[in-house]
Amino acid sequence: MTEQYAHVGLFIDGEWTRGSGGRTVPVIDPATEKVLAELPLATIADLDRAVEAAVAGFAVWRATPIARRAAILHDAADRLAAKADRIARIMTLEQGKPFAEARGEIVRIAGTLRWDADDARRAYGRIIPSAGDTVLSVRKEPIGPVAAFTPWNFPGGSPMRKIAAALSAGCSIVVKASEETPGTACELVRTFDEAGVPKGVLNLVFGDPAEVSEHLIASPAIRLIAFTGSIPVGKLLAGKAGAEMKPSLMELGGHAPVIVCADADPAQAARKAVAAKFANAGQVCTSPSRFLVHDSVYDAFLASFVAATDALVVGNGLDEGVTMGPLANPRRLKAMEELVTDAVSRGASLVRGGERIDRPGFFFAPTVLTGVPLDALVMNEEPFGPVAPIVRFTDLADALAIANSLPYGLAAYGFTRSSKTAERLIAGFEAGILSLNHCGGSVHEAPSGGVKSSGFGREGGPEGLEGYLVTKRVSHLLV
Ligand code: NAD
Repeated sequence: MTEQYAHVGLFIDGEWTRGSGGRTVPVIDPATEKVLAELPLATIADLDRAVEAAVAGFAVWRATPIARRAAILHDAADRLAAKADRIARIMTLEQGKPFAEARGEIVRIAGTLRWDADDARRAYGRIIPSAGDTVLSVRKEPIGPVAAFTPWNFPGGSPMRKIAAALSAGCSIVVKASEETPGTACELVRTFDEAGVPKGVLNLVFGDPAEVSEHLIASPAIRLIAFTGSIPVGKLLAGKAGAEMKPSLMELGGHAPVIVCADADPAQAARKAVAAKFANAGQVCTSPSRFLVHDSVYDAFLASFVAATDALVVGNGLDEGVTMGPLANPRRLKAMEELVTDAVSRGASLVRGGERIDRPGFFFAPTVLTGVPLDALVMNEEPFGPVAPIVRFTDLADALAIANSLPYGLAAYGFTRSSKTAERLIAGFEAGILSLNHCGGSVHEAPSGGVKSSGFGREGGPEGLEGYLVTKRVSHLLV
């Protein structure tokens, strides 16, 4: 194990274990391709133990007074924030994002946890006026043990969204975090354990993703499935959950359109778009990824976009000044190469980048494509990487039609200085998350989530907690 990396393992019923099967997979540093650790994988017997622990943990946790639960979660948030530097380093080692981004993620998720813990205290339910001898009320109760599956692009953020909501609501949880970025998840879980979360309430497993999800979804004790990842896998898991009549929360992919209107400030729009586009090397489900720019501001936008792209510093995320790290795995490199080759073969112009950077690690140059035909793959498939296709439009109705033409409906962005046009964009975009005149990220107090194939359910805000609660109507005839 690399000195600075984490101790990775499974956390079941309050104990760290290497599982019962002896199978492991290597964890790779995407900036150097060196092995950071060997991660143990769970067997079916390990998964069954985790579910049993979650059942017992749920009984304890739901009976714990909510003020006590919130105090433990606040303590975990404080501990996490205090360890931000160390965990951020682990995250950069295993995922590649620049240290400052990783640190920001840890600080942010400590805030998520605090917000959810407080919001759960306001899950009041209500009392409904009714006949004098009957008290009619609506109560909110934790749904029960949750199975959650999280990806590698936000090794802290994605597990925390689910853990914070589940634990705040009074649920227990079995999390299968990404096998490619296990160190951050292990550190989060370690922190909750130190803060005094009772054993069994929070369990962490790794394994063969299909085997783990199949088994956990079918386990009768699991009451809710929460997944963040690609649309094909989301459809598969939602289907399996549906067959078991279990609710699911699906945070899936997007292909966010950015419409830069004729009255926008093109230079400012370009600077903001570049910062968001290349954050986490473009591996964000809400990444701006299709740029539709009005003809009248196109040249100015492109010039500023290219200048801001040229100013990016690509390198090892642990090095000072680096603003874009490597891609997280070789699959993304291959995908970027395919998207660029396809676009160029269909007539697009390669303005910047377009190829792997010749050094160890999974580095791909920040890429700008112009004149990209609408049938090019990059205009239709989520790039999930540092490739920015830019196209011109003349009529806003056409731009909105292009924006809404795909099955995705996660994030959308618009730039305009006219409130009338802004309202047209707000009404027109088919998306669950809309940012105007900036590329806003997710916040604790408001919901994130998609429409169309980008999924259902929300994370963040009171809506996020709602998914982890069930509503019970109680009609009490007084005797
Ligand atoms: P993938 O579709 O194989 O996997 C996506 C995630 O799902 C991974 O974390 C993986 O471990 C998990 N997974 C895969 N099969 C599973 C199964 N049967 N049961 C449970 N979990 C399973 O693709 P990938 O190469 O890891 O990522 C590529 C694509 O995934 C990207 O193009 C992007 O569209 C999508 N993605 C989206 C997000 C997001 O935040 N919505 C995050 C990561 C990846």
